[in-house]
Amino acid sequence: MLTLEQLLEQTSVNTEEFLKPKPKEDKKDQETPENWKPKNALTNARVVSTQFNGKNVPYIETHVHYVKNKSKKTIGVFLCPKRMFGKECPMCDFGWSEYNENKKLGIKSDEFKRFLPSKEYVALIIDRETEENEFSTIGHPVLKCFKFPNKVREQIDLLMVDPDYKDITNLSKGTDLKINFNKEAADAGNLSLTVRASATAGTPIFNRKFADAEKDFDVFRDVYTKMIENKCNPLGRFNQLDSNGIFDLLKKMKEETSDKEEVEAHPVEDVNLSEEAKMAALQKELNMA
Ligand SMILES: [Zn+2]
Repeated sequence: MLTLEQLLEQTSVNTEEFLKPKPKEDKKDQETPENWKPKNALTNARVVSTQFNGKNVPYIETHVHYVKNKSKKTIGVFLCPKRMFGKECPMCDFGWSEYNENKKLGIKSDEFKRFLPSKEYVALIIDRETEENEFSTIGHPVLKCFKFPNKVREQIDLLMVDPDYKDITNLSKGTDLKINFNKEAADAGNLSLTVRASATAGTPIFNRKFADAEKDFDVFRDVYTKMIENKCNPLGRFNQLDSNGIFDLLKKMKEETSDKEEVEAHPVEDVNLSEEAKMAALQKELNMA
């Protein structure tokens, strides 16, 4: 038989523990090499080539769906499975079926565009500001994933057609970039990033003090190999969704953002619905919304 003391002890709430602030689980909020962002007005950086689809590239082109609901709140960000991996993408399909529908009816509308992915680019970079510290602590620079829009991609492409620069990633004769970040512009939602070449063209990838290819190639190769082995995943900052996840987002797109608690359970769904039937139902729902 329980005594009163035992019952009290068994049922007591540890208020201190209960009220302790919960650790943030969303790793997107934490600064990692994978989701690196320029914080300073100027970052000196070296782009390092990476392998993508069997080729060395200075950056990877990504196709990203930014999904917003009716209140224009972003409710999902994911890589387009069709444009990236040649798989099914119900979001793209839906956008194009909207386009075709409107075209048939002679309606001019840009509505369909919100269902299509945007192009963004990711390059692996060495941050010159932190390079020295990384060399002293772990023995090699940490590669960071730098995401940028099309305008910045154009600036990088211009350097690569310029005979003075060409392959800016070249291990011994490449060129550093100056990444300019304008926080005011970013806060106002305008283009906040620009890049230009460093004043000194033709510099080696690493600070010579730590790894000099000409003086000690063994060390240089070691550093390079370790750095690449530990590189961040250029696509790691983006979610990847399967068709069901994308259908869920399509459904949520017609909802307003609401502070109201969700009390109603979700309606029963026929899991055996074909993709086309799901698409047709969604189309009807979205048109009514
Ligand atoms: Zn897509």
